[in-house]
Amino acid sequence: MIGGPSLPQERRVVTAIPGPKSAELNQRRKEAVSAGVGVALPAYIVAGGGGVLVDADGNSLIDLGSGIAVTSVGNSAPAVVANVQSQVEAFTHTCFMVTPYELYLDVAERLNRLTPGHHAKRTALFNSGAEAVENAVKIARHATGRQAVVAFEHGYHGRTNLTLALTAKNMPYKQHFGPFAPEIYRVPGSYPFHDGRTGMQAAETAIRRIDRELGGENVAAVIIEPIAGEGGFIDPASGFLSMLAQYCRNHGIVFIADEVQTGFARTGDMFACDHEGVVPDMMTMAKGMAGGLPLAAVTGRAEIMDAVHPGGLGGTYGGNPTACAAAIGALDTIENDGLIERAREIGEIFYSRLGAMAEKFPEIGDIRGRGAMIGMELVEPGTGKPNAGLTSALAAYCHGEGVVILTAGTYGNVIRFLPPLTIPDHLLHEGLDVVEAGIAANV
Ligand SMILES: *Cc1c(COP(=O)(O)O)cnc(C)c1O
Repeated sequence: MIGGPSLPQERRVVTAIPGPKSAELNQRRKEAVSAGVGVALPAYIVAGGGGVLVDADGNSLIDLGSGIAVTSVGNSAPAVVANVQSQVEAFTHTCFMVTPYELYLDVAERLNRLTPGHHAKRTALFNSGAEAVENAVKIARHATGRQAVVAFEHGYHGRTNLTLALTAKNMPYKQHFGPFAPEIYRVPGSYPFHDGRTGMQAAETAIRRIDRELGGENVAAVIIEPIAGEGGFIDPASGFLSMLAQYCRNHGIVFIADEVQTGFARTGDMFACDHEGVVPDMMTMAKGMAGGLPLAAVTGRAEIMDAVHPGGLGGTYGGNPTACAAAIGALDTIENDGLIERAREIGEIFYSRLGAMAEKFPEIGDIRGRGAMIGMELVEPGTGKPNAGLTSALAAYCHGEGVVILTAGTYGNVIRFLPPLTIPDHLLHEGLDVVEAGIAANV
């Protein structure tokens, strides 16, 4: 089956979801795939494009998740497909560290230009967000000669050993997987719905903790997601990030923005840092970068990135030519199709529809985010306590009705919306109708 934007842009439910073919495949999964690899919605996909995913039983699902903020340009975006096809026919791999190729340079130059700040920059390419974060920490330690790394409450940075140490949440990520890498310290971030503090107050608290417990001169890096993703789509109060960045500048600390989830038009800016004009020393990127192919990057100040001895960074597959070709296609699509603007439009639709629902349902405690990265925190009316039960019931309801939505949050009580930026308005409204019916059915 051929995917891409020419797929009919409709919700079509022709069997139970998952249907019989998916159920059969899911049985094979249980016998072949580690039980440790979880699946949110076991509808097996055969094609995707625009704003839909088609499953093995012929159901057409509205995609409000983009494979976790990856297919922002849509599945099988034409420019991605064309670039990948011509690249796989030319060559599929050489290893950039053995015999290099121009596409890697194209991606590096593009990221150096697109990321915030006009200073000289350098880029290194990797395969996954976690690998990018690992390398950002390696580089920051090498460049500063310091060891301590500061991360935040509700932070998520990946599932490898070092990145698990940076990640805040135990279940399901860290449980029984320790011991974790040392010299990682966690401080409170800014969570306006819960802490009620201004950005400046929250930053002062974090900075006081760093000063008192570590001493700024011992810190190699501070790493933060400009909007916390897995932790619950928490956008910090304004001023928080810039005050933190200023503190880092004053103490020679490398300020790393982990834009793995927020990057590439998702938040209505090319990067979430652009919103407040925050200029990080280093940025990690992955998810939305290559239209679904595995590619990740670290871009940073030239003097920091070049501090590492030649041969100190790399990996067999990092910057794979096919993934680089896909990234060029995805970046062209973002720029040529106005997807930054489109992310803002999508956000407007969500904020107005969800805002109207919040008037009706006191279970909706908070609606937040930026652009097409939208979180809805569900609470128990009266107490305001996290309502994880309603959150999972709502997700299950939507899945059964052919709408793919994702959950998030330290307390498991946030629905997150990450639609492809190519989704048409009528599917957004239809998906939100299902969400509304799902809340009504479960409160
Ligand atoms: C997903 C994510 C990662 C990890 O990326 P992987 O490609 O899954 O390794 C790191 N940081 C953030 C902010 C993420 O959202």
